[in-house]
Amino acid sequence: MTQDLAIVGAGPAGMAAALAVAEAGFSVAVVDEQARAGGQIFRRPPGALGERHGSYRPYPWARELIERFEDHPRIETHFRSTAFGVLRDREGLASTALELAVSTPTGGRKIASRRLLLATGAYDMPVAFPGWTLPGVMTAGAVQSLLKSQKLLAGQRVVVAGSHPIQLILAAQLLDAGAEISEIALARDLPGLVEMAQSLPAIPGHVSIFAEGMRALAKILRHRVPISRRTVVSEVVRTDNTLELRLSRVDSDWKKTGADHWVEADVLALGYGFTPSTELARQVGCDLSWNSAGGGWTVSHDAGFQSSAPDVFVAGEPTGVAGAERAWAEGHMAGLTIAASLGAAIQPATLARAKRRLAGAARFAGVMHTMFEPRRAALAELSRQEETVICRCEEIRNGTIEDALQNNPFMQSASAVKLECRSGMGPCQGRYCEGTVAARIAAIRDAPIEASGYFNAHLPVKPVPLQDYRDIGDV
Ligand SMILES: Cc1cc2nc3c(=O)[nH]c(=O)nc-3n(C[C@H](O)[C@H](O)[C@H](O)COP(=O)(O)OP(=O)(O)OC[C@H]3O[C@@H](n4cnc5c(N)ncnc54)[C@H](O)[C@@H]3O)c2cc1C
Repeated sequence: MTQDLAIVGAGPAGMAAALAVAEAGFSVAVVDEQARAGGQIFRRPPGALGERHGSYRPYPWARELIERFEDHPRIETHFRSTAFGVLRDREGLASTALELAVSTPTGGRKIASRRLLLATGAYDMPVAFPGWTLPGVMTAGAVQSLLKSQKLLAGQRVVVAGSHPIQLILAAQLLDAGAEISEIALARDLPGLVEMAQSLPAIPGHVSIFAEGMRALAKILRHRVPISRRTVVSEVVRTDNTLELRLSRVDSDWKKTGADHWVEADVLALGYGFTPSTELARQVGCDLSWNSAGGGWTVSHDAGFQSSAPDVFVAGEPTGVAGAERAWAEGHMAGLTIAASLGAAIQPATLARAKRRLAGAARFAGVMHTMFEPRRAALAELSRQEETVICRCEEIRNGTIEDALQNNPFMQSASAVKLECRSGMGPCQGRYCEGTVAARIAAIRDAPIEASGYFNAHLPVKPVPLQDYRDIGDV
């Protein structure tokens, strides 16, 4: 059966789009790797382990969104399933139909649809430095995922480091779960009065999120957790089961100033922000554009969230990391556009309301981007030592990449470095090294990071069992 719409991602963006299209009378299939709907932010324990609802305190709309999504009869869900490619223009397919290649718990299958929405979210921005691949060095998202989905603490003594405001929320969640926070190291300063005044336009419609941030900060202060400002983790060594972390003072551009101190921990939770998940969009041929504050390479789209690839739409973090409310608003607008393209009549008042929601969410995102954009050039300097691992899948070190660049004076792109050095050819297909490779090229060639381009994506865009790949047949 050909679905009217297939969606990859059951986060706020995917759920909002699915509802808009299903409520207009069309059939929708949604694929997600997770066990349940909710995406990254509303991740919940699977099945019987978990309550129906997670903690949505800062997002009053989330509970209703998830309930309506889970109960809608025209929405077919495929959880614990990975979309690993998009097939189109195959023999026997109607000219408007696309097929999604999906690895499910029972094998590989194809889902045919007239439209496709990529609402694939984001993942933690990787930052390479000596020791970043050691056990115990984790991304903040991974530490939080363990807490949310398994109710597990990654370790007892935790250092929380990075620059994203979510680090404070994570620290408070860890304290609630009984962890000891040895230190919070923030690459930037706490916001001053001028910045606070500039952030005022973000508050309308987002009061509860700010309140959540304030509650987290109050908890951290109550627990007397040491907070170091203008400080980054520049090195980690591991002895027995303990991590020793070198915390380096930085200036306002996050360049090291020379003053260091060391801290011990079981786990380092690192969070400098998020990188949009664009691998399926790349594989299906969508145009991308560079947006450093929005997380890096983002999928280009028109006002209705249609990408440059025919019948392929995009919403949420792949258009630029901008928080759950913006993802929800984008998904809703994309859903209305898709429903209209399938023949539904959308009321002007409904469209006007959707536009207003988008504008409100954009104001919040704009403030967040200005305040928390990562200083990519300074972070790339943390990986400049010859021995530092850049591509952890293929174990390619910075020395190998710098040698390749020195020996090939016309080598400018991340893809050329990949062909020469294999960085990006492992199971993660460059999700963890693309940004660092691009930033190293930029530093050495004295060029903007975006001039290094991005890796192409090929089917399968994520690792899947070979049998599932065979099951889908004609590839
Ligand atoms: C680990 C992590 C934790 C986060 N925690 C918070 C938080 O606590 N608070 C906050 O404000 N923001 C958090 N964020 C930011 C968060 O991404 C957004 O606020 C919001 O969830 C974005 O909604 P979305 O619908 O765009 O994407 P998401 O919510 O990320 O949903 C995307 C979904 O797509 C699925 N997916 C992606 N690729 C595939 C594929 N190929 N096949 C099948 N499924 C796929 C993912 O499993 C995911 O469920 C977190 C981000 C990450 C990466």
